[in-house]
Amino acid sequence: MTIHKFDIVIFGGGIAGLWTLARLRQAGYRVALFERRAIGGIQSIASQGIIHGGTKYALTGKLTGSAMVIGAMPGIWRAALAGTGEIDLSGVRVLAEYQHLWSTGTLASGMAGFFAGKVMQGRMQTLPRDAYTAPFDSPDFRGSLYRLDEPVLDPRSLAEVFYTAYGTHCHPLEELPKFEHLSRGWRLQLPDGDSIETASLVLTAGKGNAGLLTALGQDSPHMQVRPLNMLMLRGRLPLVHAHCLGASANPRLTVTSYPMEDGRVVWYLGGQVAEEGVRREPAEQIAAGRAELAALLPWVDFRGVEWATLAVDRAEIATPGGRRPDDAFVAAHDDVFTCWPTKLAFAPRVADLVMSGLRERGIAPSSGRPAFERRTALPLARLPWEEVTQWS
Ligand code: FAD
Repeated sequence: MTIHKFDIVIFGGGIAGLWTLARLRQAGYRVALFERRAIGGIQSIASQGIIHGGTKYALTGKLTGSAMVIGAMPGIWRAALAGTGEIDLSGVRVLAEYQHLWSTGTLASGMAGFFAGKVMQGRMQTLPRDAYTAPFDSPDFRGSLYRLDEPVLDPRSLAEVFYTAYGTHCHPLEELPKFEHLSRGWRLQLPDGDSIETASLVLTAGKGNAGLLTALGQDSPHMQVRPLNMLMLRGRLPLVHAHCLGASANPRLTVTSYPMEDGRVVWYLGGQVAEEGVRREPAEQIAAGRAELAALLPWVDFRGVEWATLAVDRAEIATPGGRRPDDAFVAAHDDVFTCWPTKLAFAPRVADLVMSGLRERGIAPSSGRPAFERRTALPLARLPWEEVTQWS
C-alpha cells in the first residue's frame, strides 16, 4: 500500500477543473485531477463556447452585477488565446472572433437593441448594411445587425489543449474514494488499497459536486440545477454566430455554428427556446425550433436539414428564486473548495479565487515530485452532435 502526497486534489475535468489545474501546476503545486467520465466536462463540452463579456446581460438597459463582473473575462481569454496570457491557449480553435446581435425590427427587440448599444458602447458596433453577411445579407431581413466583440471557441479543441499540456496529472475515477478529514487536509482511500494525502480538495465536478459534498459529510453549499433543451441542426447552412434580441434580458435565440469535415455545418441553438423547451419531448422541441427559425429567418431555406436535441443541466450555486448567479462561485470550508463557474467564461475567475484562497490559508506549493503513475488514459469528451445516433 502506497501513500501518495499532494497539495491539491481536484475532482472534475471540465473547464473549471482544467483551468485551475493549469494555474496550480504553473505555481508549482503538486496536483492530481480525477475525472469520472471524460476530459472536457459535461456542461463545458455542451456549451456554445461563447466567451461572454456581459453584453447579453445588459439587454434590459442597465448594467447588472453579471455585466460588470464578467466584463473582464474576454480580455483574459483573448490573452490566453494569443499565447500571452496566464495560460497558453494558442492551440485552441476559435470558431469566430466575434458574434452578431440581430434585432427583428419589432418594437420590443428594437428597443433592446438600442439600450444594448448605449450600455455596451465599445464592445458593440452597429453594422452598415453593406457589411451584413449571410443570412442577414438578404433584402428580406428588415432588422438591424450589430457586431459584438466576444469570441466563440470550439469546446473540444479547448479540452484537447489542456489535456495535451496537463494530461499526465489527470486520472480516471471509477469509484469515489473514502474520505477522511485529517487535522490538516484529507486522506483519500482509493479502491485499489493505495491512499492519497492532500492539504486541500477542489470540487469542480459541476452537478457531481452535490454527491462529492455528501461523501465528504458537508451539507452546504447548496446547488441549483437549471435545465436546457438545446437544438442541433445540420445541413448546408451558413456559418452563423449570433444572438437574436428579444424583449427580455435573455436572447430569444442564440445560434453558434460548427463546420463539419464533409462541408455541412451544424447549427447549435440556445437561448429562450432551449430554456422554455425543457419539458418538451424531442419531437415537440424540434417542432418548436422549426417554428422559431421560420419566424425569425423566414427567407432561409431549411429543407433537407436534419434535427436533434440535447437535454443538459446547468449546475450552479443555489440562489433565491433559482435565478442565474451573477458571478462564479467558490467557497472554502474544512480544506474543501467548492466551485461552480456559472459560465465557461468565468473559468479564470474560479482559478483565481482558488489560488487566493490557498494563499489565505497558508497552503504553499510543497517540494518533491508526485509519484503517481497514470493507470489508464482518460478519453476526450465528444461534442454533442458527435454523440447523436439518430437525426430526424
Ligand atoms: P462541467 O463541464 O460539467 O464538468 C464537470 C466534470 O466533473 C465532468 O467532466 C464530470 O464528468 C465530472 N464529474 C462529475 N462528478 C464527478 C466525480 N464525483 N468525480 C470526478 N469527476 C466528476 N457558458 C459560457 O460562458 N458560454 C457559453 O456559450 C455557454 N453555453 C452553454 C450551453 C449549455 C448547453 C450549457 C449547459 C452551459 C453553457 N454555459 C456557457 C455554461 C458553462 O458551460 C458552464 O458554466 C461550465 O462549462 C461549467 O464548467 P464545470 O467545469 O464546472 O462543469
